[in-house]
Amino acid sequence: MSPKTCLHSCLTSFCKLTVVSSIHELEKQYICQYCPNRFKNKNEAERHQNSLHLRLHSWSCAALAGVHAAYHASPTHSAAADVCGYCGEEFPNPANWDARSEHLNHVHKFGECNQAKKFFRADHFRQHLKHSHAGTSGKWTNMLENACMKDEPPPKERVSSIAGSSTPLAPKPGVIDEVHDES
Ligand SMILES: [Zn+2]
Ligand SMILES: [Zn+2]
Ligand SMILES: [Zn+2]
Repeated sequence: MSPKTCLHSCLTSFCKLTVVSSIHELEKQYICQYCPNRFKNKNEAERHQNSLHLRLHSWSCAALAGVHAAYHASPTHSAAADVCGYCGEEFPNPANWDARSEHLNHVHKFGECNQAKKFFRADHFRQHLKHSHAGTSGKWTNMLENACMKDEPPPKERVSSIAGSSTPLAPKPGVIDEVHDES
């Protein structure tokens, strides 16, 4: 008796795929290049790869350069005030950075979240700002998002060696170059 095991388990913590228990391995012919997930068709596999692995940007609180980076010129009074990127509150210029960092620390729990956490979708990062940092959304959110965004290096393919070895070597073309003996 061989128990049927559905191996559909994505190893990435960001996987939001719905596991359909009736779909078993045999029906899934397309393997993700970057994780053990398999897919019934190529489109699904590509969509999965694009949305989970081939991400060009990530957002994280760790990417924020510091207190200064959380404040941005006010959209309404650009020279006179800066706004807090979390809540949009205006702070007059010239800046009192003590008051501003106090605001970040007390109101927004600046630096208190899991700094290692990365978000691969801007809307997920917004959720984080809302839930962990008492953020409210507005024009200032875009500015904070930009300040927290980083480029992601392209992922490593996990099956590149398998692909290389399973591809039969193309037969060497016969030597058809005729030697023209001009002598
Ligand atoms: Zn994958
Ligand atoms: Zn955070
Ligand atoms: Zn604020």
